[in-house]
Amino acid sequence: MLLCHVTPAIVLRTWPFGESDKIVSFLTESHGKLTGIAKGAKRSRKRFVNSLEPFSLVNLRFQDRAHSNLAFIVAADLAFGFKHLLTSLEKISFAAYLVEITDGLIGEREENRLVFRHLKDGLTHLDEQSTSLTFLTSFELKLLKLAGYQPLLDSCRRCGRERWDQCQTRWHFSPRDGGILCEFCSRLRKEIFSLSTATLEILTNLQQEKSLPPSDVSPPTGVLKEIRSVVVRFIEFHMEREIKSAVFLRQFSLA
Ligand SMILES: [Zn+2]
Repeated sequence: MLLCHVTPAIVLRTWPFGESDKIVSFLTESHGKLTGIAKGAKRSRKRFVNSLEPFSLVNLRFQDRAHSNLAFIVAADLAFGFKHLLTSLEKISFAAYLVEITDGLIGEREENRLVFRHLKDGLTHLDEQSTSLTFLTSFELKLLKLAGYQPLLDSCRRCGRERWDQCQTRWHFSPRDGGILCEFCSRLRKEIFSLSTATLEILTNLQQEKSLPPSDVSPPTGVLKEIRSVVVRFIEFHMEREIKSAVFLRQFSLA
């Protein structure tokens, strides 16, 4: 008899499989990202009543199957539906973006309860509050930290020159180096993003903020856009692909 696991989970993606089944990808609280097969989910909605829609928070019951990476989904009972989130196209596009970058930065079966809680908090915020660039940026920065990719901003990643060195007025972010480079070292890299000292300061402050969105940091929109172009590229670098939902999101967040 195969062991049946139970865990809270958020539906990340679903796609049809064969005549009547669905493949579903979840972010679970206790088993990391998990992909499974929901038998009969396409044909009969009774067994999975509205619980396999994207962004749903469910109580998932699953079994691992021998010789397969796909788990068998026994049941997924809806725990919370984020009702307001689905009422606006803007909120849906923000939520799709949060889900896509979380999906892209987390590996299968890597348990990370903090990332689960972070995505749940992010979706809850979108459900209850209005959207903002500050929220989005702080979500991205915290996710990078929790997934183990926090950008390093204290000193040049190649030569170690300290950021507080007064001779240095411009710094450059290098996705490949995972942090900043000084003027000299930046010439050795093809892909760099110039950052003014003021922008770098705000990026550092946002990164240190614990609440989501930050309570006492509200940077100017121009600075946020500059920071986000760096952060989005950095996330894509680690995902090793483009963020599809970013294009759609741009209509709302960068207008
Ligand atoms: Zn350097």
